[in-house]
Amino acid sequence: MKRPGPGAFGGTPLVTPLYQSVVYGSATPDALDDIYNGAPGFTYSREGHPNAVSVGAMIDRLEGVSGGVMTGSGMAAVSLALLSVLKAGDHAIGSTQLYGRSLRLMTEELPRLGIETGFFDPTDADTARAAIRPDTKAILVEVVANPTLRIADMTALAELAEAHDITLIVDNTFTTPLGYRPLVHGAHIVLHSVTKILAGHSDAMLGWVGSRDPALTERLEVLGATLGTTAAPFDCWLAERGLLSFPLRFERVCANAKGLAKALADTPGVTRVFYPTQNDHPDYARAHNLLGDCGGHMLSFEIAGGREAANRLSEALDMPLAPTLGDITTTISHPATSSHRALPAAEREALGISEGFFRLSVGVEPLEALTQTLRSAIAAAS
Ligand SMILES: *Cc1c(COP(=O)(O)O)cnc(C)c1O
Repeated sequence: MKRPGPGAFGGTPLVTPLYQSVVYGSATPDALDDIYNGAPGFTYSREGHPNAVSVGAMIDRLEGVSGGVMTGSGMAAVSLALLSVLKAGDHAIGSTQLYGRSLRLMTEELPRLGIETGFFDPTDADTARAAIRPDTKAILVEVVANPTLRIADMTALAELAEAHDITLIVDNTFTTPLGYRPLVHGAHIVLHSVTKILAGHSDAMLGWVGSRDPALTERLEVLGATLGTTAAPFDCWLAERGLLSFPLRFERVCANAKGLAKALADTPGVTRVFYPTQNDHPDYARAHNLLGDCGGHMLSFEIAGGREAANRLSEALDMPLAPTLGDITTTISHPATSSHRALPAAEREALGISEGFFRLSVGVEPLEALTQTLRSAIAAAS
């Protein structure tokens, strides 16, 4: 049976069509040759497809690069970034407060490949300086640490990377390009879990990684096609729709998080609120410096009463504990039993993550309703 093919229906679709095709045909060997030599066009979707190019270009514009690479998950972007600059015999350092799987990649997988790794406190550049060796080739850091929302000393880290000729890789997932632009501030590679607030609806799993260095960009593209970190067309299509409203959602969640941080600080039963641009945050000055007015969509708080109170709050809230962030609606997580469960209790406590510690990913609901919902659940838990 012959397919009608594109163009059979007339008209120009306003929305980028979903190109759910693995293979792209070429008219002649010459035409195929041209595509492999860089002419526009597609051959096989692991190497690239229209939906990845389309959504990738939207993130490129936000981060100020061209040719950023879409990947099948945020972790694929982290892996691709590290593996594009590291080889056996190299050394890399990462923040002690990286995303859990990024930490595992650096503690368990890279050493297996002959790449030694070390760690530093992202808020204290002296610890990074101390971790750097003559063979250090990459630094991996997140601007805002999960879930304590401590702020990395990005200025000092960029200076260190420059002075020692090290590739600075920034996971910009929590901050987003509207909050912080790593490449403008000395980073060499920036990456996202697009799964989170960029796509914004918890229905697409994707990553993105980009650079302003053309050689690095090509390396990312080639290695991605070889390793097969490819993004699925349908997820790209969903993320494109999500990204269209990202600036609007960002504005709203910033205002909501800020308002909610203030309200929770005045709520009986709350022992601590963690919000980077609130003036009791330990990195308040740095947060204002790096992020300006918006402390982001992530907000953590602690209630008294340990695990029992935490259970009561969760039940009263009628909101499932969700091990993700960046959704259009507010989600809550309990780090002690999820993201940070593998940490020994003493280390968790040292980070400030008690049994009463919750992390919110603030959504776009009306602020009054959100405040009311949380306050009554906290009252029920006390
Ligand atoms: C979620 C997340 C990742 C991993 O992204 P996936 O899309 O889940 O693979 C990496 N870094 C940060 C900061 C994240 O929040």
